[in-house]
Amino acid sequence: MKIHNKHIIAWLERCSVYMSEQQDFLTNLDRDIGDADHGLNMNRGFTAVEAILPEIERQHIGNILKNTGMKLLSSVGGASGPLYGTLFIRASAAVGVRTELSFAEWLDCLQEGISAVVARGKAEQGDKTLCDVWVPVLHAAKVNLQSGMSESELLRTMEQDAVTAVNNTINMQAKKGRASYLGARSVGHQDPGATSSWLMIKAMQEGFTE
Ligand code: ADP
Ligand code: MG
Ligand code: MG
Repeated sequence: MKIHNKHIIAWLERCSVYMSEQQDFLTNLDRDIGDADHGLNMNRGFTAVEAILPEIERQHIGNILKNTGMKLLSSVGGASGPLYGTLFIRASAAVGVRTELSFAEWLDCLQEGISAVVARGKAEQGDKTLCDVWVPVLHAAKVNLQSGMSESELLRTMEQDAVTAVNNTINMQAKKGRASYLGARSVGHQDPGATSSWLMIKAMQEGFTE
Protein backbone atom coordinates (compact mmCIF):
# COMPACT_ATOMS: atom_id res chain seq x y z
CA MET A 1 0.00 0.00 0.00
CA LYS A 2 1.22 3.46 -0.93
CA ILE A 3 -0.09 6.48 0.93
CA HIS A 4 -1.32 9.25 -1.40
CA ASN A 5 -3.05 12.60 -0.92
CA LYS A 6 -6.45 10.95 -1.18
CA HIS A 7 -5.67 8.74 1.83
CA ILE A 8 -4.65 11.71 3.95
CA ILE A 9 -7.73 13.66 2.88
CA ALA A 10 -10.03 10.70 3.59
CA TRP A 11 -8.40 10.39 7.01
CA LEU A 12 -8.90 14.07 7.86
CA GLU A 13 -12.51 13.97 6.68
CA ARG A 14 -13.20 11.02 8.98
CA CYS A 15 -11.45 12.82 11.84
CA SER A 16 -13.85 15.69 11.32
CA VAL A 17 -16.86 13.34 11.35
CA TYR A 18 -15.70 11.62 14.54
CA MET A 19 -14.87 14.82 16.42
CA SER A 20 -18.31 16.15 15.58
CA GLU A 21 -20.12 12.89 16.45
CA GLN A 22 -18.12 12.39 19.65
CA GLN A 23 -17.95 16.03 20.72
CA ASP A 24 -20.20 15.55 23.76
CA PHE A 25 -18.48 12.31 24.76
CA LEU A 26 -15.03 13.98 24.71
CA THR A 27 -16.32 17.04 26.53
CA ASN A 28 -17.92 14.87 29.23
CA LEU A 29 -14.66 13.01 29.78
CA ASP A 30 -12.99 16.41 30.18
CA ARG A 31 -15.74 17.47 32.60
CA ASP A 32 -14.61 14.68 34.97
CA ILE A 33 -10.93 15.61 35.10
CA GLY A 34 -10.55 18.93 33.27
CA ASP A 35 -12.55 21.95 32.17
CA ALA A 36 -15.22 20.35 29.95
CA ASP A 37 -14.03 21.69 26.61
CA HIS A 38 -12.04 18.94 24.88
CA GLY A 39 -14.84 17.91 22.53
CA LEU A 40 -15.60 21.53 21.72
CA ASN A 41 -11.92 22.18 21.06
CA MET A 42 -11.46 19.16 18.80
CA ASN A 43 -14.69 19.70 16.89
CA ARG A 44 -13.83 23.36 16.31
CA GLY A 45 -10.37 22.36 15.10
CA PHE A 46 -11.37 19.62 12.69
CA THR A 47 -14.33 21.60 11.38
CA ALA A 48 -11.81 24.31 10.47
CA VAL A 49 -9.53 21.71 8.89
CA GLU A 50 -12.39 20.25 6.87
CA ALA A 51 -13.21 23.70 5.53
CA ILE A 52 -9.74 24.10 3.97
CA LEU A 53 -9.55 20.58 2.46
CA PRO A 54 -10.92 21.63 -0.95
CA GLU A 55 -8.11 24.21 -1.22
CA ILE A 56 -5.31 21.88 -0.16
CA GLU A 57 -6.35 18.42 -1.37
CA ARG A 58 -4.19 18.55 -4.51
CA GLN A 59 -1.05 19.73 -2.73
CA HIS A 60 1.75 17.37 -1.79
CA ILE A 61 1.34 15.40 1.42
CA GLY A 62 3.73 17.60 3.39
CA ASN A 63 1.67 20.70 2.64
CA ILE A 64 -1.62 19.02 3.50
CA LEU A 65 -0.24 17.99 6.89
CA LYS A 66 1.36 21.38 7.48
CA ASN A 67 -1.82 23.32 6.71
CA THR A 68 -3.78 20.91 8.91
CA GLY A 69 -1.35 21.46 11.78
CA MET A 70 -1.47 25.24 11.41
CA LYS A 71 -5.28 25.16 11.40
CA LEU A 72 -5.37 22.99 14.53
CA LEU A 73 -2.83 25.26 16.20
CA SER A 74 -4.88 28.37 15.48
CA SER A 75 -8.34 26.95 16.21
CA VAL A 76 -8.22 24.20 18.86
CA GLY A 77 -6.74 26.21 21.73
CA GLY A 78 -6.09 24.71 25.16
CA ALA A 79 -3.30 22.28 25.83
CA SER A 80 -4.29 19.97 23.01
CA GLY A 81 -4.19 22.59 20.19
CA PRO A 82 -0.43 23.24 20.25
CA LEU A 83 0.24 19.53 20.81
CA TYR A 84 -1.88 18.23 17.92
CA GLY A 85 -0.61 21.16 15.84
CA THR A 86 2.94 20.05 16.57
CA LEU A 87 2.11 16.45 15.66
CA PHE A 88 0.98 17.45 12.15
CA ILE A 89 3.54 20.18 11.54
CA ARG A 90 6.49 18.01 12.53
CA ALA A 91 5.13 15.06 10.57
CA SER A 92 4.84 17.38 7.57
CA ALA A 93 8.48 18.40 7.88
CA ALA A 94 9.43 14.72 7.76
CA VAL A 95 7.33 14.17 4.60
CA GLY A 96 8.55 17.19 2.65
CA VAL A 97 7.28 17.57 -0.91
CA ARG A 98 6.34 13.92 -1.46
CA THR A 99 3.06 12.87 -3.07
CA GLU A 100 3.48 9.19 -2.26
CA LEU A 101 4.79 7.39 0.82
CA SER A 102 5.33 3.77 1.72
CA PHE A 103 3.57 2.65 4.87
CA ALA A 104 6.93 2.46 6.66
CA GLU A 105 7.66 6.07 5.68
CA TRP A 106 4.23 7.13 6.89
CA LEU A 107 4.84 5.51 10.29
CA ASP A 108 8.22 7.27 10.47
CA CYS A 109 6.55 10.63 9.81
CA LEU A 110 4.00 10.06 12.56
CA GLN A 111 6.84 8.99 14.85
CA GLU A 112 8.65 12.27 14.13
CA GLY A 113 5.46 14.13 14.92
CA ILE A 114 4.80 12.37 18.22
CA SER A 115 8.44 12.67 19.29
CA ALA A 116 8.06 16.44 18.89
CA VAL A 117 4.85 16.34 20.95
CA VAL A 118 6.67 14.47 23.72
CA ALA A 119 9.54 16.98 23.57
CA ARG A 120 7.12 19.88 23.76
CA GLY A 121 4.68 18.58 26.38
CA LYS A 122 7.29 16.65 28.38
CA ALA A 123 4.83 13.83 29.07
CA GLU A 124 6.32 10.51 30.01
CA GLN A 125 4.59 7.19 29.43
CA GLY A 126 1.99 6.71 32.16
CA ASP A 127 1.36 10.44 32.70
CA LYS A 128 -2.22 10.00 31.40
CA THR A 129 -2.02 12.03 28.20
CA LEU A 130 -2.58 11.59 24.49
CA CYS A 131 1.05 10.37 24.30
CA ASP A 132 -0.07 7.21 26.12
CA VAL A 133 -1.93 6.26 22.94
CA TRP A 134 0.41 7.36 20.16
CA VAL A 135 3.70 6.12 21.62
CA PRO A 136 2.72 2.46 22.20
CA VAL A 137 0.54 2.27 19.08
CA LEU A 138 3.32 3.52 16.79
CA HIS A 139 5.88 1.33 18.48
CA ALA A 140 3.74 -1.79 17.98
CA ALA A 141 2.93 -0.78 14.40
CA LYS A 142 6.60 -0.57 13.53
CA VAL A 143 7.29 -4.00 15.03
CA ASN A 144 4.28 -5.48 13.24
CA LEU A 145 5.33 -4.00 9.89
CA GLN A 146 8.82 -5.42 10.30
CA SER A 147 7.37 -8.83 11.08
CA GLY A 148 5.50 -8.78 7.76
CA MET A 149 1.93 -8.01 8.83
CA SER A 150 -0.25 -6.78 5.94
CA GLU A 151 -1.06 -3.09 5.97
CA SER A 152 -4.81 -3.54 6.33
CA GLU A 153 -4.26 -5.90 9.27
CA LEU A 154 -1.75 -3.46 10.68
CA LEU A 155 -4.22 -0.58 10.57
CA ARG A 156 -6.85 -2.72 12.31
CA THR A 157 -4.28 -3.69 14.94
CA MET A 158 -3.35 -0.03 15.46
CA GLU A 159 -6.99 0.76 16.18
CA GLN A 160 -7.31 -2.16 18.62
CA ASP A 161 -4.05 -1.19 20.33
CA ALA A 162 -5.38 2.37 20.64
CA VAL A 163 -8.53 1.08 22.40
CA THR A 164 -6.34 -0.83 24.86
CA ALA A 165 -4.12 2.22 25.34
CA VAL A 166 -7.10 4.47 26.07
CA ASN A 167 -8.43 1.97 28.61
CA ASN A 168 -5.00 1.87 30.24
CA THR A 169 -5.24 5.62 30.95
CA ILE A 170 -8.17 4.98 33.34
CA ASN A 171 -5.94 3.69 36.14
CA MET A 172 -3.20 6.27 35.60
CA GLN A 173 -2.72 9.34 37.76
CA ALA A 174 -2.38 12.46 35.62
CA LYS A 175 1.03 14.13 35.79
CA LYS A 176 0.54 16.70 33.01
CA GLY A 177 -2.14 19.19 32.07
CA ARG A 178 -5.22 20.24 34.01
CA ALA A 179 -6.05 16.71 35.18
CA SER A 180 -2.79 16.69 37.17
CA TYR A 181 -4.27 19.36 39.49
CA LEU A 182 -6.61 16.64 40.79
CA GLY A 183 -3.73 14.44 41.94
CA ALA A 184 -4.95 10.98 42.96
CA ARG A 185 -8.54 11.97 42.14
CA SER A 186 -7.66 11.77 38.44
CA VAL A 187 -7.39 7.97 38.81
CA GLY A 188 -10.46 6.11 37.59
CA HIS A 189 -11.19 8.40 34.63
CA GLN A 190 -10.39 7.93 30.94
CA ASP A 191 -8.15 10.66 29.52
CA PRO A 192 -9.95 12.92 27.01
CA GLY A 193 -6.89 13.57 24.83
CA ALA A 194 -6.03 9.88 24.69
CA THR A 195 -9.62 9.30 23.58
CA SER A 196 -9.47 11.86 20.75
CA SER A 197 -6.17 10.26 19.67
CA TRP A 198 -7.88 6.87 19.48
CA LEU A 199 -10.61 8.47 17.30
CA MET A 200 -7.90 9.84 14.98
CA ILE A 201 -6.36 6.38 14.67
CA LYS A 202 -9.78 4.82 14.05
CA ALA A 203 -10.35 7.47 11.38
CA MET A 204 -6.98 6.57 9.82
CA GLN A 205 -7.88 2.90 9.62
CA GLU A 206 -11.17 3.70 7.91
CA GLY A 207 -9.91 6.56 5.75
CA PHE A 208 -6.93 4.61 4.42
CA THR A 209 -8.93 1.50 3.57
CA GLU A 210 -12.23 2.95 2.33
P1 ADP B 1 -7.18 22.06 28.19
O1 ADP B 1 -6.74 21.07 29.24
O2 ADP B 1 -6.23 23.21 28.06
O3 ADP B 1 -8.61 22.48 28.36
P2 ADP B 1 -8.00 20.12 26.21
O4 ADP B 1 -9.13 19.85 27.12
O5 ADP B 1 -8.35 20.40 24.79
O6 ADP B 1 -7.08 21.29 26.78
O7 ADP B 1 -7.02 18.87 26.17
C1 ADP B 1 -6.74 18.10 27.32
C2 ADP B 1 -5.88 16.93 26.92
O8 ADP B 1 -4.58 17.37 26.53
C3 ADP B 1 -5.61 15.95 28.05
O9 ADP B 1 -6.65 15.00 28.16
C4 ADP B 1 -4.29 15.31 27.67
O10 ADP B 1 -4.46 14.13 26.89
C5 ADP B 1 -3.64 16.36 26.79
N1 ADP B 1 -2.48 16.96 27.43
C6 ADP B 1 -2.46 17.91 28.38
N2 ADP B 1 -1.20 18.24 28.72
C7 ADP B 1 -0.39 17.45 27.96
C8 ADP B 1 1.03 17.29 27.83
N3 ADP B 1 1.89 18.03 28.54
N4 ADP B 1 1.50 16.38 26.94
C9 ADP B 1 0.63 15.64 26.21
N5 ADP B 1 -0.71 15.74 26.27
C10 ADP B 1 -1.21 16.63 27.14
MG1 MG C 1 -10.06 20.92 28.58
MG1 MG D 1 -9.57 24.34 28.21
